[in-house]
Amino acid sequence: MKKLFLKKIFILSLLSVFVFAAQAQKSNWCGTVNFDQEAIKKDSSILEKRAKLEKFTKEYSSRKKNTEEDVLIIPVVFHVVHDYGEENISKEKILLAIDILNKDYRKLNTDVYQAIPEFKNIVADIKVEFRLAKIDPEGNCTDGITRTQSLETYDAGNSVKYAVPGWDNTKYLNIWTVKSIESGAAAWSHYPGISAALDGVVSIYRYIGSGHTLTHEIGHYLNLMHPWGNSNDPGLESNCDIDDEVDDTPLTIGVVNSSCNLDQVSCGSLDNVQNYMDYSSCDVMFTEGQKTRMRAALNSSVSGRNNLWKQSNLEATGTNDSYASPICSPIADFYVDNKSVCEGSSVQFFDNSYNSSVDAWAWSFPNGEPETSNEQNPVVKYNTPGLHTVSLKAFNSSGNNTISKNNIINVIDTLMGYATPYFEDMESSDFPESSTDYTKNWKIEKQGKLSWELHSTSNNNSIRVVNYSNSSETKSILISPNINLTNFENPKNITFKLAYAKRSNSSDDDLKIYVSDDCGITWKIRFLKRGSQLVTNDGTLVSSEFIPQDDEWSEEKCSLSSFEESNHIMIKFVCTSRKGNCLYIDDIKIGEEANRVNTVNPIKKIKLNIRPNPFKNDAVIDYYLTHNSKTQIIITDIIGNVIGKFYKEETTGKHSLNLTSIAPNINSGIYFIKLRVNNAQTTRKIIKIK
Ligand SMILES: [Zn+2]
Repeated sequence: MKKLFLKKIFILSLLSVFVFAAQAQKSNWCGTVNFDQEAIKKDSSILEKRAKLEKFTKEYSSRKKNTEEDVLIIPVVFHVVHDYGEENISKEKILLAIDILNKDYRKLNTDVYQAIPEFKNIVADIKVEFRLAKIDPEGNCTDGITRTQSLETYDAGNSVKYAVPGWDNTKYLNIWTVKSIESGAAAWSHYPGISAALDGVVSIYRYIGSGHTLTHEIGHYLNLMHPWGNSNDPGLESNCDIDDEVDDTPLTIGVVNSSCNLDQVSCGSLDNVQNYMDYSSCDVMFTEGQKTRMRAALNSSVSGRNNLWKQSNLEATGTNDSYASPICSPIADFYVDNKSVCEGSSVQFFDNSYNSSVDAWAWSFPNGEPETSNEQNPVVKYNTPGLHTVSLKAFNSSGNNTISKNNIINVIDTLMGYATPYFEDMESSDFPESSTDYTKNWKIEKQGKLSWELHSTSNNNSIRVVNYSNSSETKSILISPNINLTNFENPKNITFKLAYAKRSNSSDDDLKIYVSDDCGITWKIRFLKRGSQLVTNDGTLVSSEFIPQDDEWSEEKCSLSSFEESNHIMIKFVCTSRKGNCLYIDDIKIGEEANRVNTVNPIKKIKLNIRPNPFKNDAVIDYYLTHNSKTQIIITDIIGNVIGKFYKEETTGKHSLNLTSIAPNINSGIYFIKLRVNNAQTTRKIIKIK
């Protein structure tokens, strides 16, 4: 009895492990249904067009026989949306993708023989062929590929199609390739009837040139649903009650976990798990019924699908058989290995010209050494500090094209930027970017939907990352300007304030800090905390947006060991999001206070409030001291003239004074009040009105 009981428990626990695993791996790799339903919410006219197409499809199916069909050619354009990384895929990959499509849609795929006997007789040759466009919408020569640098490549949603607009959807099938997709999907598409701007396929670059992802998404583009129906949830019993409107694909609940069970029976009959439109890992076929449905879509005017393959359109897009494609002119483009270097350093430029082969390059590097080059990928030394522009002219026998990138190279004078002791409390309007001195700019790099952002409350500014709104593994990067250490020997630490709370027990965001003494070319890691190590509140999980209270900050220290001999550094804060909660940083210090952080009480956040603001006759300045301090208040006008000053040694507690007691004859205008307490300071903008 006992044994049996134990055995039962064992089986039960095995079962629960299995269920958990199934949920964890639940595939949502195709985003079509979700994106499509979002679009319908905003534009209900889509449904009317779909109803019209559905009616047309029924009529078409009743009168057409698949054997009578001609091969239909579809002009295609790829829009490579990239940030000069591996997502800037080669033309070879795109040609490979076209080749896979033309095998899959012509029943020429080498694995088609694997179709099991029960479905072998209905494997269809769709008789559709895809060709890269040779003429663009303006009539220019093209190789059918556009390349655009855009941050929309990260966590892409439908907004990528506005950042990089598609070509006329009644003339071309638009395919955008991106680095990542916001929903975590691998790709998505829309059924016909969608608005022109959204029509087409978006795919993560990795799925271009391998696998059947595009085959599946173009199936949706040609009006096919998943075999279980118009949902994104394979594996549900209720899927037996919905259908894909195709007669020869059996009712099915669909395939979960990309499995390949050729004997799967889910709704009373054998499933066609090998169908391209299902989620299995062994997809090799479309059916004759799916062919009829796709060809109906291609014969309907809904979304202009019936124009794509017309002879007039093939001629307009250069995809007809007799079109003799000329050599196109190149479109010039380039990138550089390091945009920021110390004076006297070299950078390497890389030609990224496209649309055609390039025979010659003419580079121009004002203030560089050399100042011009005809190499494809030249190395250039910069001795002059400042921002430098670079241009490239790319030539071939058909023409040339020039691109110029203004101020792309930042050559750093290591004596510029900030001097130590350095204290950044983020209260000034010159953080993160200075309005007057670019050498004091902090740089925020975005590799996802979100990155570091300034966060303001009534009495404090800090900088934060909203981790839970970011995709997992997205890095948010904050890079300091040059910090000149020559006035300050032997810096030991950077200190800063940190605030973080977990959203759930599994919150695992991390913060890494790197230091560079070669102006950002190489970085050494000096700080790493993740998950529970970052928590600064009392450990309470915060399910909503975490906004720290004054006592929910910790003082952190980042060692500068091995940089003792450096006379300048840059600091890089990298927060990797893993769906936790907000992470805040404030009060970054390098210098005396930072070195003494463990021997004296750290200065708490300075609280400074001006009321009212704007003011008419007089205002009250309130501030709070956490210990006896030397207090200094300086009022300056907008160009820095000192209007009033106040200096006193004061005791712990709240202090208030009238503004006119410091600056009795203040005129109307904008002013800054700077409160300095020992070595820390904070600034507020005030406005006196008439
Ligand atoms: Zn799909």
